Amino acid sequence: MSIYLDHAATTPMIEPAIDAMQRSLRKIGNPSSLHTDGRSTRKDVEEAREVIARALGCAPSEVIFTGSGTEANNAAIKGLFWNAPDKNLIVVSAIEHHAVLDPAHWLVEHEGAELIEIPVTSAGVVDCDFLADLVAARGNEIAVISVMAANNETGVIQPIDRVVEIAGNIPVHCDAVQSFMKVPLDYAGLGLFAMTISAHKIGGPLGIGALILRRAFEMPALLHGGGQEREIRSGTLNAPSIVAFATAVTENIYNATSVAALREKFEAGIAQVAPDAQINGQSAARLPGISNITFPGTQADFLLLLMDGKEISCSTGAACTAGVHRPSHVLMAMGHDEIGATSSLRFSLGATTTAGDIEYALSVIPDVVAMAKAANAL
Ligand code: PLP
Repeated sequence: MSIYLDHAATTPMIEPAIDAMQRSLRKIGNPSSLHTDGRSTRKDVEEAREVIARALGCAPSEVIFTGSGTEANNAAIKGLFWNAPDKNLIVVSAIEHHAVLDPAHWLVEHEGAELIEIPVTSAGVVDCDFLADLVAARGNEIAVISVMAANNETGVIQPIDRVVEIAGNIPVHCDAVQSFMKVPLDYAGLGLFAMTISAHKIGGPLGIGALILRRAFEMPALLHGGGQEREIRSGTLNAPSIVAFATAVTENIYNATSVAALREKFEAGIAQVAPDAQINGQSAARLPGISNITFPGTQADFLLLLMDGKEISCSTGAACTAGVHRPSHVLMAMGHDEIGATSSLRFSLGATTTAGDIEYALSVIPDVVAMAKAANAL
């Protein structure tokens, strides 16, 4: 019995997306070629672009396909910074994914940018009062503000509408990789400048994402070459992945209500089988499928291996560098100390998660936690 509870890392491709990808792989024609074959592939790509635009409430020309969510985040942070040469301040939330944090830090180290991180409450929600004070004091120095729609470790949903309101004329980028197709997202309605999405979190293929970027906005080219994607991101378009991405959007099988009900069952069960466990971000609005749990007196990497031994895939949520588990910057920002931030696991449920999966996980957790506590005590 193998139980997959790591859907926030990646979720299985849905069958219609696999079929669409296979059909596209069998077609010939570079979407930039002018002959009939090329135009046919181009038509597939443009139809896919329209599907994604409709799902987000943006114009098709605002969808720029990229090789990943990571690439779109890098493009947004660097592009918006470079586009405002008279402004030197980058503002991001303290709980951003590394694909936002690291390009921001890179700009500090290599381009002399100044970076300010917006703190979060103990529930994991960005502190809008801090942002409002910062914008009031130094708004004319800020090149870009980036706040994610929902956090990938805790699932905590962020008040993006309020962030945009506070930002006024300052461009806001939103990493919506975890939220897209899970909770309503209206790019134009929110008034965002830029947004990031990624196919493999919604039942599409790995290695394809999109940067949603305001139509009138000119950004420096990130890749130079054939001039594709508004000359921002040159490179032959990955038509099979793009088509499959759009199919994952149209054939979406994610049911937020049933995923939320399973998560509730899981967390109610955790309260029974591990009464000292703490569910991070529980008091905030969260995505339906993510449950981040601190098991006091344990080491998360050991817990993870024990869970794996019971054929359950879950995650520590935090980055792992060369096999060394670093404390989660997200949990630390929420007020955990290093010990708390290294004794937490992320369970993430998806469209294919069943009640049986949850029951099995709950049946093994008491033993796993007891073993991890015993090992930690040694
Ligand atoms: N942003 C968030 C919030 C994520 O969770 C992820 C993936 O884990 C990414 C960005 C990176 O997306 P990709 O895997 O497509 O590079």
